[in-house]
Amino acid sequence: MEVTANLHECKHCTGTGTCTSAQDGASCYACAVRNEIPIWRRKKQYGLMCGSCGGIGKAEPMTERINKRIAPLLAIYLSIALVVFVILAAFSENKFFSEILAFSSAIIGAVVGFYFSNRVK
Ligand SMILES: [Zn+2]
Ligand SMILES: [Zn+2]
Repeated sequence: MEVTANLHECKHCTGTGTCTSAQDGASCYACAVRNEIPIWRRKKQYGLMCGSCGGIGKAEPMTERINKRIAPLLAIYLSIALVVFVILAAFSENKFFSEILAFSSAIIGAVVGFYFSNRVK
């Protein structure tokens, strides 16, 4: 999966990976906390690792992160739910069974196709 394509420059450290957002280019308090600097030394620290991006200078948009993790799960759950629905319809001898089967297989096909085409990239 292509991950780097969706990365953007970290706003907190402007892509350097080092926090200089406090006064005079010092590292800010929040990043000092993230770097586990003792409480009496948290001010006037220089060149600390950026706490927002973990020092890599690049951050993934939150929505991208959620989409990547949730979309495949949703696809799997939806497919399972539809398969269960079809099986239930078959056992209850639903008179719309053929319609349900056609409808469900179309959706499962689309979901699986989308899921695998996403994975391959
Ligand atoms: Zn950063
Ligand atoms: Zn900072």
